[in-house]
Amino acid sequence: MKFRDFIAGFRVQILSIMTSKTFDFIIAGAGIVGLSTAYKLSLAYPDASILILEKEPGVAAHQTGHNSGVIHSGIYYKPGSYKAKNCVDGRHQLVDFCLENEIKMDICGKVIVATQEEEIPGLTAIFNRGLQNEIEGLNLIDSKELRELEPHAAGLRAIHVPCAGIVDFKGVCEVLAAKTVLPGNRILFNSMITGVHQSNGSLTISASGHSYTCKHFINCTGLHSDRVARASGVDTQIKIVPFRGEYFKLTSSADHLVKGLIYPIPNPDFPFLGVHFTRMVLGGVECGPNAVFAFKREGYTKMAFNFTDTIETVNFPGFWKLAGRHWKMGLDEMYRSVSRNGFLKNLQKLIPSVQIDDLKPAPAGVRAMALDPNGNIVDDFFFETTDNEIHVLNAPSPAATAGLSIGDEIVNKAKQAFSL
Ligand SMILES: Cc1cc2nc3c(=O)[nH]c(=O)nc-3n(C[C@H](O)[C@H](O)[C@H](O)COP(=O)(O)OP(=O)(O)OC[C@H]3O[C@@H](n4cnc5c(N)ncnc54)[C@H](O)[C@@H]3O)c2cc1C
Repeated sequence: MKFRDFIAGFRVQILSIMTSKTFDFIIAGAGIVGLSTAYKLSLAYPDASILILEKEPGVAAHQTGHNSGVIHSGIYYKPGSYKAKNCVDGRHQLVDFCLENEIKMDICGKVIVATQEEEIPGLTAIFNRGLQNEIEGLNLIDSKELRELEPHAAGLRAIHVPCAGIVDFKGVCEVLAAKTVLPGNRILFNSMITGVHQSNGSLTISASGHSYTCKHFINCTGLHSDRVARASGVDTQIKIVPFRGEYFKLTSSADHLVKGLIYPIPNPDFPFLGVHFTRMVLGGVECGPNAVFAFKREGYTKMAFNFTDTIETVNFPGFWKLAGRHWKMGLDEMYRSVSRNGFLKNLQKLIPSVQIDDLKPAPAGVRAMALDPNGNIVDDFFFETTDNEIHVLNAPSPAATAGLSIGDEIVNKAKQAFSL
């Protein structure tokens, strides 16, 4: 028998076991949220059976594997929000998890820099929010102290956030997956969920031509979370609109310009905007990302286009309301997408000595932006719960940092909603 036939036969056997069993939990999506949820469920309910269905051939194939790799401190988020609570708790858990499992991580610290006088009130507001969120070690520093930390950065004042860092999120996912796949638990790759049906108190999940049965279903499908929710009959009016974040990398000769993480003062309405410098834990320095509308939910290149994705977005009133209110900002982002000089000008506000030849293109990521029909961006993490389903409908940044804490949040919601 050829090896390929042996593998195919083995997969058929596994599938027949998987399809004949009723799992306690099926989790959709093997990004950091789905895997953290599976891990935390396996700790809370060691005897429960868990199946993870993932449409791609491996873990962290989308947002988690295409992000900036930053361990966020939690300084920006509204006190009391899921983001604030889960980011701080998730960061502590993530650091411990990386240390225990020898995953690459560096708590290199971050500076948030005011480059103009009119940005100082914004800087002070962020600092005060950081104090409210009890972020450890925050310091307001002047330009001299900034230069001691980041010799090439320009700025009038800055916040030094020593507890921020960088990590290999894909590495985190690989360890989470390995820890979750215990006897009775499985991850099936190349399994795209297309239907979720209720039948006599259990759920039947259709994925890539097979059916799986479970008592409880948890949807962690990121860029497709609204679709999977709708496939199970849950329609919250929220639509995911994809926004591509494009990056450049510094060439190796310019690498020395950045020691850790150098960020601008964010726009409070669009905290994810504003290109920054990020030292990557696996090497190099990334600059970006911007945020431009993507014509495909997983459209990583400028030419990527998907008819269904585009029609769904342009038929959604919330998209036009957002575009109507913020068209100028959208145009600015598009300009920075097509003009390397435009991108560079923004970077030079933080590091004046960076030059056009120092930049080389780097792979992009796509953010799942959740919009309501009035064009409002859903800011906080958002969960929709029924008596046997939980749908994670908004898990934007800092959800990678917060992943392990979001996993706890979901276990608590499951306990209550599913009466476990
Ligand atoms: C450009 C960018 C930079 C970012 N930088 C940071 C950062 O530095 N730090 C930070 O903390 N956060 C950052 N974030 C945010 C963070 O990456 C995300 O919030 C987080 O990864 C979301 O994880 P997730 O598991 O919800 O989604 P994903 O990682 O997208 O995982 C969802 C999974 O579901 C699968 N799936 C989708 N549909 C189906 C289906 N029908 N059937 C089966 N499987 C399906 C997908 O293939 C995917 O693997 C960034 C995000 C982006 C886009």
